[in-house]
Amino acid sequence: MAIRQIITDQDHKVLRGKAKRVGRIDDSTRQLIDDLFDTMRVAPGVGLAAPQIGVPLRVIVVEYEGQRYAFINPEIVKQSGQVTDEEGCLSAPHWQGPVTRATHVTLKGRDRDGKEVRVKAEGWLARIFQHEIDHLGGTLFLDLVQDRSLIHWVESDASGEAEGGEGDVARSARRRARDTNGAATGDGQQGRPSPRGQRALKPQEAEL
Ligand SMILES: [Zn+2]
Repeated sequence: MAIRQIITDQDHKVLRGKAKRVGRIDDSTRQLIDDLFDTMRVAPGVGLAAPQIGVPLRVIVVEYEGQRYAFINPEIVKQSGQVTDEEGCLSAPHWQGPVTRATHVTLKGRDRDGKEVRVKAEGWLARIFQHEIDHLGGTLFLDLVQDRSLIHWVESDASGEAEGGEGDVARSARRRARDTNGAATGDGQQGRPSPRGQRALKPQEAEL
């Protein structure tokens, strides 16, 4: 088990660079995948791309609703629909903002054994995949927020907090207030419509 450091310097050249395709899939690729999973779980988050731990290769991992996905050289081969929702990123801790993405995607890539795999995803899982693939081109979600004034600071993330801790309570109260009123409260952005609608997002779901 190897926990790697997640880069949070948004100008870091690997985080901002274009990752290279993996040629031969070997033990070092599998080690990288294991490290990505370990690092993502501890963060905790639901997705992680190799450039986020300083490795300029096209490898991503996702763990969502009990399913684990590892993709080498992933590509989106089909996409449809459009939805705007709040996102966060392990490389930009505390920041969230609305990003418009496809609702349905089909991904193609290779698994840890080099076998070609295709996955169809929709909703939040589709969003995670799009977010992680963006990392391979050096793009952060913050680059995609069209109205910069909607980028906001979320005081506390999920890391290290016990369930039901003060942070969670404050967070869910804030979220309830926002969902009920359809507007952010207490952060100077009153009147902003909630892009998330009725869905309550678990804190770590926003960590990609
Ligand atoms: Zn990210």
